[in-house]
Amino acid sequence: MPELSIRNLSKTYPNGVRALSDVSLDIPTGMFGLLGPNGAGKSTLMRTLATLQEADSGSARLGTIDVLRQKDDVRRLLGYLPQEFGVYPRISAETMLNHFAVLKGITNGRQRKEVVDALLHRVNLHDVRKQSLGTFSGGMRQRFGIAQALIGSPQLIIVDEPTAGLDPGERVRFHNLLAEIGENVVVILSTHIVEDVSDLCRQMAIIAGGRVMMSGDPLDAIRSVEGKIWRKTVGREEVEVLKTRHAVIHTRLVGGRTVVHAFAESDPGDGFEPTSASLQDVYFATLHRASEKTEQAA
Ligand code: ADP
Repeated sequence: MPELSIRNLSKTYPNGVRALSDVSLDIPTGMFGLLGPNGAGKSTLMRTLATLQEADSGSARLGTIDVLRQKDDVRRLLGYLPQEFGVYPRISAETMLNHFAVLKGITNGRQRKEVVDALLHRVNLHDVRKQSLGTFSGGMRQRFGIAQALIGSPQLIIVDEPTAGLDPGERVRFHNLLAEIGENVVVILSTHIVEDVSDLCRQMAIIAGGRVMMSGDPLDAIRSVEGKIWRKTVGREEVEVLKTRHAVIHTRLVGGRTVVHAFAESDPGDGFEPTSASLQDVYFATLHRASEKTEQAA
């Protein structure tokens, strides 16, 4: 089974933005979650791996393939669902998928029909295959996006921010589909939604400011902060004061009240209570540390 190994990848855009800074990751077969806030560099990394843009330095290998140099070989093994997946609204799902299959080099008509049919069944769009794509819901469109990404049995599947804008039911359907696909190939799921990763991925990385902040097994990561997450329910006006005294990693509203989570090796006092850790806490604690480092450096 191929494994994707990324070493010291860096990219600075012509406007001076350093979008990737020495990124190294080992990505095994299965679902890999790439988590980071907007602007972290996720899409830049995904587009680079999908051979759509150049890195300045570093390397990436998929099995024996040099991803940055053997672009045609990568493209043969790649399924890519970009963040902005445009569809022709007047064309039916079946016609469009057939067209993508032609582009992927499936020239034999009968074989192509079989591939297209099987994919439409797999993503549960066979019943609506004659409908134009413009009539599809967000979830149906994403499932269509996955169908086109699966043409030609790819070994590397890259899915960029797939569940933004899906309703909860559609999200679950989409997750189940991804989980099925991710059993035998490398699937990279790039997202800023923590639950997508905790639901689906056995391995993950958090990136921020173009750097890898952590990588590994989400459950190990949760264990590593267990006992260090503290919680307090407060009035909104109290939040700013707490922030000056504690490492507040995130705040959220629960039933109209503000719940503050802070990171501390031992009881921080001030009425905080211990609470069990989640991947959200790992994520926000990691980003908190990253922002502190940036502030110290500035
Ligand atoms: P993410 O996908 O995590 O939101 P991106 O890879 O899109 O992050 O962006 C990383 C950084 O690079 C951001 O600061 C973004 O503004 C910048 N950026 C992305 N694409 C370009 C581009 N084509 N030209 C200049 N800057 C870019």
